[in-house]
Amino acid sequence: MSIIKTEKSEFPTSVQVLIVGAGACGTIAALAANERGAETLILERDAKPMGNTSLSGGQIPAGGTRLQRAAGLLDDTPELLYQDILAKAHGECDHEIARHIAYAAPKTIEWLVDRYKLPLSCVLDFQYPGHSRPHMHASPSRYGAELLTVLVAAVEAEGIPIAASAQVTDLFADASGRIAGVRVRRPDGATEEIGCEALILACNGYGGNKAMLAKYIPDGVDLFYEGHAGNQGDAVIWGEALGASIKDMGSFQGHGAVCTPHGMHLAWGHATEGGFHVNQEGRRFSNENAGYSEQALKLYRQPGHVAWAIWDERCERVAIQQHSHVLANESGAIKRFDSAEAMAKAIGCDASVLKNTIETVKKIAEGKAKDEFGRDFTTKPGLKPPYLMSKIMGALTHTQGGLEINKEMRVLRKDGTPFPNLYAGGGAARGLSGPADWGYLSGSGLLMATNAGRLAGEAAAAQVGK
Ligand SMILES: Cc1cc2nc3c(=O)[nH]c(=O)nc-3n(C[C@H](O)[C@H](O)[C@H](O)COP(=O)(O)OP(=O)(O)OC[C@H]3O[C@@H](n4cnc5c(N)ncnc54)[C@H](O)[C@@H]3O)c2cc1C
Repeated sequence: MSIIKTEKSEFPTSVQVLIVGAGACGTIAALAANERGAETLILERDAKPMGNTSLSGGQIPAGGTRLQRAAGLLDDTPELLYQDILAKAHGECDHEIARHIAYAAPKTIEWLVDRYKLPLSCVLDFQYPGHSRPHMHASPSRYGAELLTVLVAAVEAEGIPIAASAQVTDLFADASGRIAGVRVRRPDGATEEIGCEALILACNGYGGNKAMLAKYIPDGVDLFYEGHAGNQGDAVIWGEALGASIKDMGSFQGHGAVCTPHGMHLAWGHATEGGFHVNQEGRRFSNENAGYSEQALKLYRQPGHVAWAIWDERCERVAIQQHSHVLANESGAIKRFDSAEAMAKAIGCDASVLKNTIETVKKIAEGKAKDEFGRDFTTKPGLKPPYLMSKIMGALTHTQGGLEINKEMRVLRKDGTPFPNLYAGGGAARGLSGPADWGYLSGSGLLMATNAGRLAGEAAAAQVGK
């Protein structure tokens, strides 16, 4: 991965807008640029586009969409989503970008539904921690693979080429930082050079790169990695070589309930509906409702780096609507138990300790005791047997640090000025979560990928059109 300094502008092939990565960000950027008349090409390292988008729950937040109003949710707004982002990140993200993205979100959702027939609907029966309203929009299976399949189909229907098995290794840049083109490596080692008028980096973050994790997120380096292996930090590596501003590199989305050894996560509904986590002594150790991201490290710090999630059939009816939870069930990661004693036996802990934990949570839910971790259990009924239980571990799903961008999604230099024709979005850009794991508001990943994708595609097309 390198920057090749060059003043050359002639390439064997050239396009106006070149996009690296065919996830949600890259495909949406391509649709937006193509719609404005720009000749567009996506380069994707995998033989078939997958990325983190395919592994995700496919849920995209927005406040105040036509879909929400039609479903009877009348009081959500972009401002509420913006305030939720700020509150979760303790105000430590870029306020201007967070506001811009939150206000762009309704238009992006409606545009994708109206023009490209994405089968999105509102998720109204479940609210993630930190969401003041049910902001989420998702396709029927609530699975990112379905979302990416329809995005790729839309790209293909528009006649926009996706060159697969095409890993971008190097960028050609002149002395001013203008990107003239890229070098691509094919699986057989052959290389190609492609010129461009504008380049959009939509190749996500560095979750799959252990050396970068060790450098930027040492606490998270030993977490199970639940993301796509192709996220090797290429955008950051090129950005650093170009002298770009790189921010919040310690930030990531974790997940605090990945079934072990199965490797897929429980839907967080198991917890928000009243479920909780215990360690191998049978004791709770956290406010599970603070957020699934920060729960990953809290869990990792428990004895043996494992815990057990406990919930019931009522919670299960909410959780099972998410595809990852269906997979967890199918893989046998979720088991049913009639009593605390039977669960204690499976965990290998003292039954009286686990019984006491369950009784205490019941008392808190009835308003007869206060939770030592500050969680409010009173909004949901207490758990009833049979209990459901799964052995879980903490995971890192994707990184949130990256290239600093302005409102047009142009990549900025360290002095705050934009590079002439370089854009970034999705996981390649700095996220909305502040500096660490606790600032991630559920859905911020796809919020950034979808909206930054549209905005980058529009801005890049406007630039090349001149
Ligand atoms: C298990 C899991 C669950 C998640 N759930 C949610 C959720 O419900 N809601 C939410 O908002 N977010 C969720 N996320 C996060 C979300 O998936 C990401 O933030 C989002 O998909 C990022 O989109 P992207 O387009 O930036 O990256 P990706 O979808 O990862 O696409 C990047 C593409 O770039 C390609 N690429 C990389 N380097 C190169 C290169 N050098 N040359 C060519 N191609 C390259 C990759 O192969 C990949 O296809 C989840 C993530 C995971 C892992």
